[in-house]
Amino acid sequence: MGGGKLIVITGPMFAGKTTRLIEELKGEAHDRKVILFKSQMDNRKSATDVVTHDGLSMPAQILPNGEECARVLRQAAREYEVIGIDEGQFWKASPRFSETLEEIVSKHSKTVYVALLNRRADGKPFDVSMKLLPLADTVYSLKASCSKCGGPATMTQRLVNGVEAFGEEFVVGGSEKYEARCREHFVKVGNEE
Ligand SMILES: [Zn+2]
Repeated sequence: MGGGKLIVITGPMFAGKTTRLIEELKGEAHDRKVILFKSQMDNRKSATDVVTHDGLSMPAQILPNGEECARVLRQAAREYEVIGIDEGQFWKASPRFSETLEEIVSKHSKTVYVALLNRRADGKPFDVSMKLLPLADTVYSLKASCSKCGGPATMTQRLVNGVEAFGEEFVVGGSEKYEARCREHFVKVGNEE
């Protein structure tokens, strides 16, 4: 088997990260015990399943934030061989999120998949992305289509009433609040550090 693996699926919104995650997990589930976690903040389409924009779905458990997070992950590592996590950026405030995943992969030889937004709405990388990407055995960097030019998009633009808006945080939503953009068409708004 060759030990554990951490696979990170990253990119902007609308790049198909969750679809890719579910496809990988369904493939693994043919011969291994698989669990999928989601955030309690993500209840856009279902409280119990992860559901993609294109209608693919898979049952999921809630992974809590904070100190509870590491305990639930370790428990899952005892019962399952493959752990999937959707929207990994939601655990940015959980102190040992990336460390616990590294421990599960390296000490317990489990396979962990994390789907993860690459950047915040202000264009800066998520701390979780910066911690997890160097730990990954495999990174799938997915692109969306720019809403302005149709070219490959790596950025997520926040829109309020149709106008580009500043905001570090993402609210989970559909196409009415966010668009994928290429670097040229990403508009950086407000609060320069
Ligand atoms: Zn563009």
